[in-house]
Amino acid sequence: MKYMDFYSAGKEWAPRDECGVFGIYAPGRDVARLTYFGLFALQHRGQESAGISVADGDVIITHKEMGLLYQVFHEEDLTGMRGHSAIGHTRYSTTGSSVLRNAQPIQVDSPYGPLAVAHNGNLLNAVELRAELQEEGVHFRGTNDSEVIARLIAHSRKPNLEEAVADSMTRMDGAYALTILSKDSVMGVRDPYGVRPLCVAELNDGGWVVASETCAMNVVGAAHATAIQPGEIVTIDAKGPCRRQAVPEIRPSLCSFEFIYLARPDSVMYGQTLHLARRRMGRFLASEHPAPGADIVIPIPDTAIAAAIGYAEGSGIPYGEGVIKSRYIHRTFIQPDQRMRTLGVRMKLTPLPEVLAGKSVVMVDDSIVRGTTTGSIVRLLRDAGAREVHVRISSPPVRFPCFYGIDMASRRELIAAAKSVEEIRRHIGADTLGYLSPEGLLEACDAGEDRYCRACFTGNYPIPVPEDQRLHKFSLEASGDRIEEGPEDRIS
Ligand code: SF4
Repeated sequence: MKYMDFYSAGKEWAPRDECGVFGIYAPGRDVARLTYFGLFALQHRGQESAGISVADGDVIITHKEMGLLYQVFHEEDLTGMRGHSAIGHTRYSTTGSSVLRNAQPIQVDSPYGPLAVAHNGNLLNAVELRAELQEEGVHFRGTNDSEVIARLIAHSRKPNLEEAVADSMTRMDGAYALTILSKDSVMGVRDPYGVRPLCVAELNDGGWVVASETCAMNVVGAAHATAIQPGEIVTIDAKGPCRRQAVPEIRPSLCSFEFIYLARPDSVMYGQTLHLARRRMGRFLASEHPAPGADIVIPIPDTAIAAAIGYAEGSGIPYGEGVIKSRYIHRTFIQPDQRMRTLGVRMKLTPLPEVLAGKSVVMVDDSIVRGTTTGSIVRLLRDAGAREVHVRISSPPVRFPCFYGIDMASRRELIAAAKSVEEIRRHIGADTLGYLSPEGLLEACDAGEDRYCRACFTGNYPIPVPEDQRLHKFSLEASGDRIEEGPEDRIS
């Protein structure tokens, strides 16, 4: 059911990132509060639960709860968390159900002292690793793959923590960007493909920060962020940062949906501000799929704004706001059935008849997954008087599921897996429909070199996906709770 939750602009589903991670080493600073600020900037990456762990040189304390950051942390929580380093996490679950015991950071005891781990991504061999660890007597409290990572590191027999993390990286398959807190260090760790983003930066007035996106660096006063490289461990302690290529980089494969939709538009990846990359996507889209004679280009707010501006720039058609997004609706209030999804679109997006009436409208969005919401929005525009609705999508058709940490439907539910573009156009009731081509996406992202995962468009998975998982998602179920759990674990 979790796919159908609303949390972004009028969608019953949107590609949703699993998590945001943050870490800070800054003795003498209020590290818990700075982590809170950093997580605030990463709230778009996960809204189910939030948590912060703080280390003071002896112990680690962790506070985490279900809910948005402002619901989880109050002034007394932050003032009670004193230390010189911290990590934090905002969660959207893709593996393991949405319950408190799966919230992060995961804190465990280890031969290296107490550890806390925050994870963004999805391990492909979590079930196997969990079984191996259980055979060795390791006890698990939750059901998510992040606990597998924490206990794998804690169970290592290597002489120090960095060696334990490096050793664990050789055993983990899949996508992971980690922040790890020990009593006297913070680490940033990225899988050898670099699927999920992670960067590091120095604070202006002393200390270092690690975060999923650069937008979290800016709010805490850190500048000149650099990417943690695929396969790299960055350890920050009293000696400063130390970078180590722990496992060889295999093939840089940053998730292209980070560029299209997931990451905040003011974040920078591969040296590019995402707002500008999205504008380029819009310009390519305009050249690949023009809409001659259209009167206005409108975005589906907020995520498609930059692409719509780009489409307007590329086409010469005026840009305008045709729908207003309610900022205060919360997904909890929307029930996951078709009637409520349609109602949800109307609660979330309000058309402006004064702008739309009698017009030929180009509606720009970032993706179509099931097609139901896009159809509802097209109807909304027509009901408001739009004469024609031309739908333009700033990503290629999503035809394959994601195994690397983005909550994506099974193949059966993806409208583009079974239908042609013309069939989708009829399904959503648009006058015309055009998707950005895979080549256009690549050019807009990078002007050449392919350093991206584009598997949900092409079916070419950079990290090999085990056959049983592939079959499972290709045919049947939506989200992979790959680890057995009782019905009482589910909140809804
Ligand atoms: Fe991103 Fe798609 Fe690759 Fe998943 S399959 S990591 S959503 S590009």
